[in-house]
Amino acid sequence: MSHPESLITSRDLWDAVAAFDRPQTRTLREGDYVEKFTVPPLWTQLYEAIDKNTGDQGNSKMQSRPPVNTNAMSLLIEIATAVRYEKWDRKLKTSQETPLELRAIISDVIRGGNVPSNTDGMTTWEWWEWCIRSWNTRIRTVLGQTLTHRLYGAACRTCHASTVPAFDEQGNPAGRQPALIVHIDTDTELVTSVACDMCGTILEDHHLQGLWDQARRAKEWSTSIAERA
Ligand SMILES: [Zn+2]
Repeated sequence: MSHPESLITSRDLWDAVAAFDRPQTRTLREGDYVEKFTVPPLWTQLYEAIDKNTGDQGNSKMQSRPPVNTNAMSLLIEIATAVRYEKWDRKLKTSQETPLELRAIISDVIRGGNVPSNTDGMTTWEWWEWCIRSWNTRIRTVLGQTLTHRLYGAACRTCHASTVPAFDEQGNPAGRQPALIVHIDTDTELVTSVACDMCGTILEDHHLQGLWDQARRAKEWSTSIAERA
């Protein structure tokens, strides 16, 4: 059933889907400081980006522009629509959630075998792998180059805050979260800046080594507590 010249495997297809709808582990490296953390699925990030207008932060009441990220919204609608129509074409019965619909489609594509498709000389598996990867790339472009991560265990040099209040989606208090937000360039995986969510200070290069030392000590301490427990 498999097309002899195609190098795409069913594993490649599922890897592309996983980058779309599963959380991904990223590594923050700065000198000898290393921290692994998890980022939400690309699809979830795209969904959440709709409510975050990435334009200037002026007085929203004075702006005629709607308070939504229209690039994120139009890409989300484009992907959701393409997936919905494909599901209908294939007469698949699944939930109405785009990631689950896409998984049902890919199962069906794999069941159909890696056979020549009508499109650009690609096989069916090649075409779907290319299609999902291009969605992932376009989502990353809409989200921008920067990834943020809250750094546990370190305090701001200006206001000395190490945590700030957190709020849930309804705006109700939801405990506390780290105050320092690390901005990471998604291409180079390098830290571009560290900002304090309490006082707004952007921490300078010469403060960073002290921060990583603080964060590492906090992590070693919490690990040793966990081991003793
Ligand atoms: Zn601060």
